[in-house]
Amino acid sequence: MIYLDHAATAPVPRAVADAMYEVLAEQYGNPSSQYPLGAEMKKRAEDWRRTVAALLDCPADRLFFTSCGTEGDNWALRAAAWQNRHAGRHIVATAVEHSAVLECCKWLEREGCEVTYLAPDGEGNISAAQVLEAVRPDTAAVSLMLVNNELGTVYPVADVARGLPARNPKTLLHTDAVQGLGTFSARDLGADFVTVSAHKIGGPKGIGALYIGPRVRNPRPLLAGGGQERGLRAGTEATAQMAGFARAAELRLEGRDRDRARLEALHAYAREKLLAIPDMLPVGAGTAPHILSVSLTGWPAGNIVNDLGSQGICISAGSACHQGRPSHVVAALKLPKRAAAGVIRLSFGPETTEAEIDVCAQALRRHRDTRMPML
Ligand code: PLP
Repeated sequence: MIYLDHAATAPVPRAVADAMYEVLAEQYGNPSSQYPLGAEMKKRAEDWRRTVAALLDCPADRLFFTSCGTEGDNWALRAAAWQNRHAGRHIVATAVEHSAVLECCKWLEREGCEVTYLAPDGEGNISAAQVLEAVRPDTAAVSLMLVNNELGTVYPVADVARGLPARNPKTLLHTDAVQGLGTFSARDLGADFVTVSAHKIGGPKGIGALYIGPRVRNPRPLLAGGGQERGLRAGTEATAQMAGFARAAELRLEGRDRDRARLEALHAYAREKLLAIPDMLPVGAGTAPHILSVSLTGWPAGNIVNDLGSQGICISAGSACHQGRPSHVVAALKLPKRAAAGVIRLSFGPETTEAEIDVCAQALRRHRDTRMPML
């Protein structure tokens, strides 16, 4: 199998699975229990938190484990709206956020909030000035993702954080950094909330984390229940997932510079190979080295994904979360119909090889040469 869909989820390395197995099989204590089996887990949970915090470059006591990136996005937006509920009910988000943000915005709209959705240009870009101009005296929160999961475009979160106090000192800034984990420092970004998820870096599915900065006073929990995570995120700690997340974070930290250079070279290689195929066009101005978005203009992406899938090659038609529905990100680019129909995403991990890209490029060329395009 050739797996070129790391932005959907990444394979779990053996070392991560082993770390999880040890906890599941031997260290099954509940961190809230007082006897040594529980107390030991409480201590280890704090070690795992420190390790993940090191990858984000944030203080460990400001990082809270969640069940996934989706939960982090929902928690951050709701906590921001709650903190500023007397100051205003306006939210600024981009039209290309992940559905975890967009659907939460829709809920907030139904509860009386007003949301401004910022449209990108035809390349997927959104400038800091565009975001800041949308901020009003009643803006409770801004949600600006760090890396777009379909295009690989990187958004100017740090610039927005720097400019925000002058526009409205109360507005809280959230960034969905799920696709950027391992590439940023939360300290340097300056956002009040940073959402991440383990399964995009080789950790297990079912665990994420939310950084909550000092400007967030008494953050409102999303769940009511026990006093875990310092009373802010109820639910018995998912210890095996935490162990796996921490091990994946360690591996990411160890290989960070080497992997980045490899991915950049691989991205350039894949781009050149794919764009050599007739009717293949680049999509968006993405610079994240693990995501490449292109369009086989005139050939429906769903058919391409199925054809390659039947040959054991995994790629995606836009975001995996939108399968079967037109992607809101591609729609926001306002591409011509035939170009929009053919948008596919390849995404890479540290173990992806040039040989795998070659096989994928050959399969795409074959698809173009043998399948009927749309009318
Ligand atoms: N945000 C972005 C940008 C993503 O790519 C994803 C997953 O695809 C999520 C949020 C949701 O993360 P999770 O799958 O952990 O809920």
